[in-house]
Amino acid sequence: MWGTHGNERADILAKEATYKDDVDVFLVTPRSLINLKIRNQILNSWQVRWVNSLRSRFTFRLFLDVDLKRCFGDFFINQILTGHGCFPAHQGHFFGKNSNCMCHTDEGTVSHYIYGCPLYEDIRRSYFPANFATLGILDLVQSGHSRKGLTEIVKCVLQVSLES
Ligand SMILES: [Zn+2]
Repeated sequence: MWGTHGNERADILAKEATYKDDVDVFLVTPRSLINLKIRNQILNSWQVRWVNSLRSRFTFRLFLDVDLKRCFGDFFINQILTGHGCFPAHQGHFFGKNSNCMCHTDEGTVSHYIYGCPLYEDIRRSYFPANFATLGILDLVQSGHSRKGLTEIVKCVLQVSLES
């Protein structure tokens, strides 16, 4: 009985609505949609800041896009991904220490240790694929065996840093 009455009332209101010039009924936006919009707005804002920042450009070249799901909790690998930590280039930039590698061929950057330092040839040969020079740092990080090699390199650089 209420159902029939309700349907008739809805029909009358719908018919009346067709005569109105403006919409005067507003539906409540679901909380999930509001949360999604806020989340997307925060991500977009973060992405704009990440692209336009002058900081962390080494990491930016590895990760062009921000991502809430990406998480690296590895002490050694994070030093590779950020260029921070024990690397002489970082130590020189932030603490005024000598920024050169102890091989005396180049500055002690992440790239130097991974791709060029003659002191770490044995580690590269043991852990990296033969074509490692054509691979990006992320490729090496994401390959289990290469990742172990990267960890070994950071451990060695850290040891040298602590001894000096
Ligand atoms: Zn070197």
